[in-house]
Amino acid sequence: MADNTLQEIKDRLDLVEVISGYIAVKKSGTNFKATCPFHNEKSASLMISPQKQIWHCFGCGEGGDVFGFVMRYENLEFREALQQLAQRAGVTLPERSPQAGQEKKVSEDLVRISNFASKFYHKQLLNNSGPSTTALKYLHDRGLNDKTIESWEIGYAPDSFDALIKALQAKEVTSVNALLAGVVAKNDRGNIFDRFRDRITFPIHNFYGDVVGFSARVMPGAKEDTAKYINSPETPIYSKSKILFGLFQAKAAIRKMDEVVVVEGQMDTISAHQASFSNTVATSGTAMTEDHLRLIGRLTKNIKFCFDSDAAGLTALRKAGELALAMGFRVKVIVIDLAVAKDPDELILKAPMQWKRAVHDAIWFTDYYMDVAEKQYHFGSLEQKQYLVEEVIPLLKYVTNPLEQGHYIRSMSERFAVTENELRTALKGTSATKFAPGQTVPDRRESLPKPVMVTQENIQEKEILGGILTYPEYRQFVAEEGLPSEYIPPQMRDMINAALINDPTPQSARTPAVQALANEAQFMVESSLENLANNELALMRELKKSFYLFKLAGIKKLLQDATTAIKKAESLHDNSAVKQQSQLFAELSAQRYALEQKLQS
Ligand SMILES: [Zn+2]
Repeated sequence: MADNTLQEIKDRLDLVEVISGYIAVKKSGTNFKATCPFHNEKSASLMISPQKQIWHCFGCGEGGDVFGFVMRYENLEFREALQQLAQRAGVTLPERSPQAGQEKKVSEDLVRISNFASKFYHKQLLNNSGPSTTALKYLHDRGLNDKTIESWEIGYAPDSFDALIKALQAKEVTSVNALLAGVVAKNDRGNIFDRFRDRITFPIHNFYGDVVGFSARVMPGAKEDTAKYINSPETPIYSKSKILFGLFQAKAAIRKMDEVVVVEGQMDTISAHQASFSNTVATSGTAMTEDHLRLIGRLTKNIKFCFDSDAAGLTALRKAGELALAMGFRVKVIVIDLAVAKDPDELILKAPMQWKRAVHDAIWFTDYYMDVAEKQYHFGSLEQKQYLVEEVIPLLKYVTNPLEQGHYIRSMSERFAVTENELRTALKGTSATKFAPGQTVPDRRESLPKPVMVTQENIQEKEILGGILTYPEYRQFVAEEGLPSEYIPPQMRDMINAALINDPTPQSARTPAVQALANEAQFMVESSLENLANNELALMRELKKSFYLFKLAGIKKLLQDATTAIKKAESLHDNSAVKQQSQLFAELSAQRYALEQKLQS
């Protein structure tokens, strides 16, 4: 990737604007500040510099440029963040290879065809002919209004083998591409025909809002043996295990409410959105996958499921819930009163307030199964105990917090005729995963957003770098005191060394990532100065203190190493090694003492 492409993207985007698309930011002097989304806090420690286009959090030490923020926030790889921001900035990325270029071109063609088909079907629905009137009436009867029908671009595929084909031909779309897009199919004799005929069509969008496929429903009054829904086949742009119906439309609301409601059907989703429950998405008949959850994970870690209460729905709920727990989500179940409605769609139409309450009162996944144990089995019966051991206790394996686990065990012991000891024994003997063979449960650590691994030393390193880059006086101080190079990771060490001996402006020699780090370090120091009411003397004191503390931490580590080495040498009766290490220990102790004196003065 050419550096100037990265720079061009950065130049065209405003960091403050990008960040404020995710979190609320407030002006603060020449800078902006926000409550940091990467650590738990109530005050606003995240500072954004519009001049430097750099952010830094004084609470947890995270920081960087626009790419760093989007990667961290959306849980993206660099390449994904790059693509997203390039698109936003209107910058075309150079292709990695001719083949990748060709694939991208095909994908674009397929998206164009799908978008065209969606508009074509939608127009058919509204053209007031016999069958389309029936389709429209059906949608109205299901409670959808015209605005909803338009915004979801619901359509009608005519009862014809070539209506869409002809329309595509008029647009000079090749049959190869129409087949690839999945809107057209081919029979044994090699003839092509419209895949969806005499059906109500629902376009399916990807995360970015492109139409990539369709779900097509039978018309009311169709023959009994007709499939209720047929969907697009897997294509280069549509993979059902990677796409959730309604996610594009629900994205903003999910992020804002920090919660997603997952239902089964697309009608449930559309009704929910129409009634302003805009954070709803549907699995539309496919099992929830890791990819689905990863997409959701970019927006929230809070999931509420509402699946049908038939056997298939219950199985789907159990699997989806366990997978989500394994991936670190907080999972709840929405229970609806079956006496009032059979599914969310019906409940939302009949009694939206009741749906609202059901969503609000959703219960924790584990509690849900405890309720089942209570309702379905006699108190204290063997069957109830078996159910607890087989269905409820395995869920406690996902509860990593011992306090929370203790809470569940206590409450189970209180509710059912089992002692805490019995429950703990059962918990030890259980495994959390009951997934089908071949279905892997992701490693918890991999799936969770990367924890903030910034240590105190990492923050001090940035401060040292920033100080050297900003103040010649401080540069001199560090040079005289001596940089404890051995404790600094290589990339940082190189930067600090370069800054120490050089004029701090050979920026052209730096890569954008290094440049971002240098800018962040400088921004950190400048914001600190602002926080100290522009008192440079006080700042210099802080910076020096920080430097000593950093050095002290390093010396303490070396002292520990020396102690270990002495013990080892003693056990081996290696007298010369004992002597050598003891001498080192004495030297380090002296350095430590000197530093502690400096810190006290
Ligand atoms: Zn933070």
